[in-house]
Amino acid sequence: MSKECINPYTVSNSDFTRHIDVICPRCEKKAIVIGTSLYVPMVEHEEKVRFACVSCGYAIKYANTPKMIVYVNSRGKPKYSRMVYQNAPIDPFFGFSVWYKMETNHGLLWAYNLAHLLVIEAYVASPLRERNEIENKNSSLASRLPKWVSAAKNRSYLLRLIARVKLS
Ligand SMILES: [Zn+2]
Repeated sequence: MSKECINPYTVSNSDFTRHIDVICPRCEKKAIVIGTSLYVPMVEHEEKVRFACVSCGYAIKYANTPKMIVYVNSRGKPKYSRMVYQNAPIDPFFGFSVWYKMETNHGLLWAYNLAHLLVIEAYVASPLRERNEIENKNSSLASRLPKWVSAAKNRSYLLRLIARVKLS
């Protein structure tokens, strides 16, 4: 990822969904979800998205997971589709827990992958960094983070937690 992409006011959580580090639901070690952009057709999700754990060998193709009933139409016929989970500490496709999760005294901080975590770290270190001149989009990563993340009094505490989880 190039330098200019890592401003927390110009990126969104959804910019980090192509590779997500998750906790393997079988062995609880670090595993990978190969994802896609959330904004492509579902067929593309089904073609590309997969989960793999190198520790226990568990692997799943997204296309092979069951669809969910999203609604029942007026004739009582269920319609099946897929849910994409957004802005939550789980991968958007399978719903597996993300690997980079930090329980803090104020709440949970989480990231899809290391690049995502580094943007959050930069934001914690300097929450007003490069904000000037940039329109703060509602969907930006910075605007999604709770207020306590940018509080100066929490800075060194949060940076310590992030430093620890970075090595995991
Ligand atoms: Zn595993």
